[in-house]
Amino acid sequence: MPLRSKLPHVGTTIFTVMSQMAKDHNAINLSQGFPGFDSDPKLLELVAKYTREGFNQYAPMSGVPALQDVLSAKTARCHDYEPDPETEISIVSGATEAIFCAITAVVKPGDEVLILEPAYDSYEPAILLSGGIPIHIPLKKGDFSIDWERVISSVTFKTKAIVINTPHNPSGYVWSSSDLDHLAQLIRDRNIFVISDEVYEHITFDERKHLSLIGHEELREKSFVCGSFGKTFHVTGWKVGFCIAPPELMEEFRKIHQFVTFSTVTPIQHALAEYLKTPSNYESVSEFYQKKRDFFCQGLKTTGLEFSPAQGSFFQMASYGHLSDISDKELAERMTKELKVACIPVSAFYHNGQDHKFIRFCFAKEDSELQEALGRLEGLKRIL
Ligand code: PMP
Ligand code: GLN
Repeated sequence: MPLRSKLPHVGTTIFTVMSQMAKDHNAINLSQGFPGFDSDPKLLELVAKYTREGFNQYAPMSGVPALQDVLSAKTARCHDYEPDPETEISIVSGATEAIFCAITAVVKPGDEVLILEPAYDSYEPAILLSGGIPIHIPLKKGDFSIDWERVISSVTFKTKAIVINTPHNPSGYVWSSSDLDHLAQLIRDRNIFVISDEVYEHITFDERKHLSLIGHEELREKSFVCGSFGKTFHVTGWKVGFCIAPPELMEEFRKIHQFVTFSTVTPIQHALAEYLKTPSNYESVSEFYQKKRDFFCQGLKTTGLEFSPAQGSFFQMASYGHLSDISDKELAERMTKELKVACIPVSAFYHNGQDHKFIRFCFAKEDSELQEALGRLEGLKRIL
């Protein structure tokens, strides 16, 4: 009896494909986004401490109260709004779960959901599994800012939600206060919810500040703000994230979360609760990554690739269309096999695989590894 797929057009994610290719060809892996260095030993020791002390059984469904409390205080410090830890904050198993539960909570069959492309790959499958219809809106060519006129003209009476992402993966674009005001205007007097993916909240450059939807009085009333500790503390493998939303929305969110994972890894939640009490632990992250971005961009200048330095995130996009017509997938493959440097072809972030001749590098690596990769990229001249 054949199983009729619910996601017939979905294959293995590009991140898995490229990481595997990097491994097979012994290449430096600047494709999938994960740090090439460990977290602060203090945080690692806290996890060891809480496992030793017996915090090893199920956590409460909505999160360990100490972590909800400290996240509420941190949100007040960063965004001037103190969410109620009991009714407005849930700790979940990574931002991926937060996004999935938020989309599942709001989208019903036939509902349209706006996605700005290029887009992270988990949004669309979540929408499709709920019977929703993804409506793709391209970001502006050049700086990947939001084309608000196009967004407004894509709204119909069926529009149920919009998924946004700031700082943006893969472009690094960071929303301005005028973007937030445009969004507020868009959803004003309409029943449109916002799923806001803010996993790179602590990675912004050149004095730019991350503006969370939580800090916007009108927007937070209709938003699910999704975050991840994996990005902020170099622990992507822990898969611990969170969602902040108003009580009525959070109630629906939890109905889903309790049957997706029920609860999230206990000792790590306790460790994070303690670690987050020291603001410098998260306030220093932007500066740390800005040095890496600058180092990487300096080296990229001699490769012939075109780019503008990322405004945020730990990714740098670069274009090569002025040099060659080769597809971005072929380029990524040849770079991995011939130059031994893996990257992500940005066409994977478009629902129809549109190829704008962009590749994405992850610069969350030791400087020595970045240096070695940049040296190898000199060989690009042989491919392009
Ligand atoms: N959103 C974006 C934009 C991401 O880059 C990632 C990367 N992992 C996620 C969500 C998922 O975060 P998590 O690993 O916490 O599930
Ligand atoms: N967010 C990471 C990236 O963009 C990948 C996460 C994953 O492998 N699913 O590279």
